[in-house]
Amino acid sequence: MSNLSTLQQLDSQHFMHPFTDHNALAATKTRVISHAEGIYIFEQDNRAILDGMSGLWCCNLGYGRTEIAQAVHQQLNQLAYYNSFFQCSTEPAIVLAKRLADLAPAHINTVFYTNSGSEANDTMIRFAHRYWDLKGKPSKKGIISRNNGYHGSTVAGASLGGMEFMHKQFKGLDYISHIDQPYWFGEGGSLTPEQFGLKVAQQLEQKILELGIDNVAAFIAEPIQGAGGVIIPPASYWPEIQRICDNYDILLVADEVICGFGRLGTTFASQYFNITPDFICFAKAVTNGYQPLGGVLISDKVADVVKAAGDDFAHGFTYSGHPAACAAALATLDIFEQEQIIDKVKNDTGPYFQQRWQQLAEHPLVGEARCIGMLGAIELVQDKTTNSRFEGDVAGPTCRDMAVKVGLIMRAVGDIMVVAPPLVISHQEIDDLFDRAWQSLELTELQLTKKALSK
Ligand code: PMP
Repeated sequence: MSNLSTLQQLDSQHFMHPFTDHNALAATKTRVISHAEGIYIFEQDNRAILDGMSGLWCCNLGYGRTEIAQAVHQQLNQLAYYNSFFQCSTEPAIVLAKRLADLAPAHINTVFYTNSGSEANDTMIRFAHRYWDLKGKPSKKGIISRNNGYHGSTVAGASLGGMEFMHKQFKGLDYISHIDQPYWFGEGGSLTPEQFGLKVAQQLEQKILELGIDNVAAFIAEPIQGAGGVIIPPASYWPEIQRICDNYDILLVADEVICGFGRLGTTFASQYFNITPDFICFAKAVTNGYQPLGGVLISDKVADVVKAAGDDFAHGFTYSGHPAACAAALATLDIFEQEQIIDKVKNDTGPYFQQRWQQLAEHPLVGEARCIGMLGAIELVQDKTTNSRFEGDVAGPTCRDMAVKVGLIMRAVGDIMVVAPPLVISHQEIDDLFDRAWQSLELTELQLTKKALSK
């Protein structure tokens, strides 16, 4: 069964993949990853590839973490499952709740568990609506989000997201509306980053006034937009968003599914930006990707009202607080502490990664190299003097394919290449990442020149 071509054939016949063009997949065949160690993944033919994306932004501690596997194994043997409905609980879920409360900003002390980031964002809507109902403001149902944001793939998650190509394929929720993203390189025009940051933040104020304050429950945003292309807002952006949410009493939601758990050199990105969200939605790296777990961290302001309601909050999942997933999270947080991962990202490997990543801006194909914490993006452009784009949808995908050729996973978001390497990456491995990214750019340039000549 482990023969590669057999697996590829069965994959093609029976396995429908997420976010995949199946005609294109049939033409190229799926890559079957067989094992992984540290920051490298290995294909069936044993070729090592530097995983510049930490899986799907989740394996922040890298692979081969036997401590997490053992914690899960032990928990499954002791108590593989019990639910947290009907006045029941399990020790890992309780201990993790306390630990997350300690890690979260001071005004947040409560967690609701889900299995994924999408469910976390769905759950946040349930809380926001319930909160405003209990406050006697039932018309406050609207949620404001951002174009090109990503908040998951359930109906609510995809409606919150601002991805046009997703909206075209289903009917979104009508109480969700979108404002512009703080994408200065792509949309800033002649404004300075600071002016642009303020301008797009103030769209929130305009949208609240347009919809009516009594119709808006919350504003949700990723502190750094990940899937949208690692969009780092200008410094003026978040303080203005916070001011507007406070001023109009709109709940502020930080979707930290990517930014949480050390990605920016702080436990949560809300701490990096010094904002006080009413909800922090998390998932992914909380278990280092070893078990599916997500959740919503809920501010005292909201949690106290919902808890005091006097009847059920009618929401929950069979696997809310799954003991094995919570055990994985506890083991993950132990490693974060023991290896002082966050301190390293903040003071050592993060700054080194940023310094090297910015050097990619010297390449003729790169219009901007931006980075923050252990997140990086480069903008591929045809002409550096004008930052004009390549025609068609070729540069990004070509660069992604060239990266794989030289043994690096980089993700293409249109013509933006993004990386989010495991936080445990060493200086030497950062050099390796840089060299492979540079080689990918060189090969991409060659390919694009060939294509242009053959026209
Ligand atoms: N929010 C953000 C910011 C994400 O990046 C993602 C997934 N990449 C999600 C939500 C959805 O998480 P999941 O795929 O676990 O449902």
